[in-house]
Amino acid sequence: MTHFLITGGMGFIGSHLTEALLARGHYVTVVDDVSTGRFENIAHLTHHPLFRFAIESIMNETVMDRLVSECDVVVHLAAAVGVQLIVERPTHTIETNVLGTHAVLRMANRYRKRTLIASTSEVYGKGSRLPFREEDDVVLGPTTKSRWAYACSKMLDEFLALAYWREQNLPTVIFRLFNTVGPRQTGRYGMVVPRFVGQALRGEPLTVYGDGTQSRAFCDVADVVRAIIGLAEHPDAVGQVFNIGNTREITIRDLAALVKRVLDSPSDIVFVPYEEAYGPGFEDMKRRVPDISKIRALLGWEPEIPLETTIERIAHYMRKLEGQVALQGAGS
Ligand code: UDP
Repeated sequence: MTHFLITGGMGFIGSHLTEALLARGHYVTVVDDVSTGRFENIAHLTHHPLFRFAIESIMNETVMDRLVSECDVVVHLAAAVGVQLIVERPTHTIETNVLGTHAVLRMANRYRKRTLIASTSEVYGKGSRLPFREEDDVVLGPTTKSRWAYACSKMLDEFLALAYWREQNLPTVIFRLFNTVGPRQTGRYGMVVPRFVGQALRGEPLTVYGDGTQSRAFCDVADVVRAIIGLAEHPDAVGQVFNIGNTREITIRDLAALVKRVLDSPSDIVFVPYEEAYGPGFEDMKRRVPDISKIRALLGWEPEIPLETTIERIAHYMRKLEGQVALQGAGS
């Protein structure tokens, strides 16, 4: 049994990772300041004998000192995420991502704990050679466009984690997540799949930004969690960067049509100019697909869940949530 400390464990990915680790018989401690995470995501686990949590910021040194000293492996997922949030609150993004990761790595180094750092496909910036490989060169937009603050803050996290490995021998692993999707992800911060599913279920128009020819490859969170656990367990992952994502590319326009079809929704599809969606000067990434040969070679990992199934899983979760809200409303 390994004791995992998951920062951001009440978030979308963190809560799925927590469940999967508990199911494998590991001990899990979650620390989360519930800024974008929700206690409800882990509420069903609070009586599990191998689970405990703290609602606290990773910047709280006293708490983090104790939690890190007591665990075997740290998975650092706590971050400011979602393009919309980043554009709206760049100061918060930069501070959370850079200072937060620094605090976690420093603490992990104090107790020599193996640490996995979550990064993002955003670090590939404007790269046009697809699929994206871990060693690719990077071109970002100018500092006057706040979107790039996210990529830049995560790149600094990566540099720092690799520096801790090279200079201090702290075992660190970096994984870059590509458009992870699944139940519990909220559309509040701009993520396209939960937004489309919610819109389709409510019979509202699906809002495609731009002309919808931009594309992404969406990976189910259950597949992602399997990859993270594999990296946490494999001794040769240390000191390396890995892409985690799906390789099935789909345009946002086709995604809207697919969501409509899978959910048999009568919703219209509308096209919203980028300016209207994100404000002036926003730069979107045209395409984004990972090369996953590195993680495949190490772990034999492949995504298994088709996007159609993920859409159904999200819709199922949303309907259940709606039902709970309706029941609570009826009871009050
Ligand atoms: N998008 C969209 N409609 C929405 C939300 C997002 O067309 O309601 C687009 C967005 O402009 C981007 C793609 O969907 O091209 C993926 O957006 P998301 O925020 O999910 O992820 P990211 O931009 O980080 O890949």
